[in-house]
Amino acid sequence: MTITEQAVPADSTASSAEQDLQQKAKDHLWMHFSRQSVLEEHGVPVIVRGEGHTIWDSKGKSYLDGLSGLFVVNAGHGRRRLAEVAAKQAEQLAFFPIWSYAHPSAIELADKLADLAPGDLNRVFFSTGGGEAVETAFKLAKYYWKLQGRPTKHKVISRAVAYHGTPQGALAITGIPAMKEMFEPVTPGGFRVPNTNYYRSAELGFVSSTQEGPEREREFGLWAANRIEEMILFEGPETVAAVFLEPVQNSGGCFPPPAGYFQRVREICDKYDVLLVSDEVICAFGRIGNWFACDTYGYLPDMITCAKAMTSGYSPSAPRS
Ligand code: PLP
Repeated sequence: MTITEQAVPADSTASSAEQDLQQKAKDHLWMHFSRQSVLEEHGVPVIVRGEGHTIWDSKGKSYLDGLSGLFVVNAGHGRRRLAEVAAKQAEQLAFFPIWSYAHPSAIELADKLADLAPGDLNRVFFSTGGGEAVETAFKLAKYYWKLQGRPTKHKVISRAVAYHGTPQGALAITGIPAMKEMFEPVTPGGFRVPNTNYYRSAELGFVSSTQEGPEREREFGLWAANRIEEMILFEGPETVAAVFLEPVQNSGGCFPPPAGYFQRVREICDKYDVLLVSDEVICAFGRIGNWFACDTYGYLPDMITCAKAMTSGYSPSAPRS
């Protein structure tokens, strides 16, 4: 370090480091789902540290990380034990594909997940994140029906407003038109049914003479589930491969399912030979109170997609190393 550098007070060094970061962000960082012009005009908060549910930015301001880094860091920030285990793994073996080979962490995690998963769900296919998990489940559903000798079953049904990721196939399942219009045409085969926001039930077309209360909510749940049956019949059961649903539908406001909804959906899927995929990219690993949220709501899906809190952000989700 030179004498001139030593003479600079610490806070001015910090502010020039901050300015440097802001400039680099402005010049090179393309942010996700963000208005780039805001970054360019006002700069961006730079988060540098976390402890439990608190995070700090580069200016020392603290925040409550209420979304857990977008539903990822369920175990909280700053857990030394997790960091040490990740470091040990990196020292031992950085990466290896699960392609004709395996390694202990992939085998053990698959075993653990199979143990935690409900019913007979006992095979784990690792991918790199939630969108790719949804994409993979879509592909698996199509291939499953091909292997069953029913190759025309390829369409997928999901709820309007629901978010299921941004790869081209997952976008076919995501029910938010504004997130897709730039990339149209996306993978064909995605069909939408009304979402289960009870407070918008009238707008969705639900009509009831039952008094406001639990009975009416249950009736709405059955009504919403029956829209899935209607769509299967409209498109033709021989063309529908799977229904993708989040246990608690996050996008638009976090809607828990109305009572009876998933039980009726399960019945419908069984009746028409359609796979039920529980998209638990947000809801798994304790967020709803159980390892898998389908357990909370009492239904058994044919596939579960999960990611995020599986590693709590302490390592990339695919144990491919
Ligand atoms: N599915 C659901 C229900 C999600 O909430 C998300 C992301 O928030 C995804 C899929 C996509 O996951 P990722 O961002 O890891 O690709």
